[in-house]
Amino acid sequence: MKELDSFKKNILEQYPRLTAEDEFRFSCNPGVSCFNQCCSDVNIFLTPYDVLRLKNHLGISSEKFLEKYTQVLGDRRQQLPTVQLLMTDTPEKSCHFVHPEQGCTVYSNRPWPCRMYPVGQASPAETEYRDDKKFYFLLHEEVCKGFEEGGKTWTIAEWMKDQGVSEYDEFGELYKEVAFHKFFEQGKVLTPQKVEMFFMALYNLDKFKEFIFGSTFLERFEIAKEKLDKIIRDDEELLRFGFDWVKFALFGENTIQIKTGPDTT
Ligand code: SF4
Ligand code: SF4
Repeated sequence: MKELDSFKKNILEQYPRLTAEDEFRFSCNPGVSCFNQCCSDVNIFLTPYDVLRLKNHLGISSEKFLEKYTQVLGDRRQQLPTVQLLMTDTPEKSCHFVHPEQGCTVYSNRPWPCRMYPVGQASPAETEYRDDKKFYFLLHEEVCKGFEEGGKTWTIAEWMKDQGVSEYDEFGELYKEVAFHKFFEQGKVLTPQKVEMFFMALYNLDKFKEFIFGSTFLERFEIAKEKLDKIIRDDEELLRFGFDWVKFALFGENTIQIKTGPDTT
């Protein structure tokens, strides 16, 4: 974790800050000499939406996905858990989803950091560099020959569009609202039960669905029937509801209505 913090600090202090209109030349395809090299021994943090897309791509439950393909770490405040993609237990430490010839086998649902690479995005407002604006930067890693082999000139915005990054925007913003909530700035600490609730409602979506429909939840909370119909059919709706639930259950926001008792007047 300390290593990661110093990496972030380095980015914020040393890397050239780019805007969406800045250009770079980059080429990545199965013909490059470093094909798949970026898919080994790499730290990839998954947001709840990354997990949703991947577990549905693989056709497995969220519980199974988390168990088999991730490790869960505490963040530097040891509060909210962070979910990292597990690498294989081999000398190469490869991603479980990389194939020697085909490359990424979950390409249409690959996580946000895999889409962005070699572009990075920094949000200083969420750190002690809070007066600085959000910016982009380029990761020039030794292993990656994409910069050397010519190819197309992209603006950062064109690259992100090409990689389908915007599909992740809505849930990325919802995640930030929770992870950087003012609750934490005030130095408050979540109980272990609330940390578990966060993890279930956002990452273990299938278990969260069971919690909604298989417990006394619906006797206690007022949820419109149309919303419930959507939640049961559509994991993205379920995740939106998960964020509402987390804001209610962890931070006491008014995002869920408690059922009132029988009218006695
Ligand atoms: S998910 Fe795909 S792109 Fe990302 S590290 Fe794994 S194989 Fe590579
Ligand atoms: S290391 Fe760079 S150029 Fe090589 S496959 Fe990965 S992203 Fe593409």
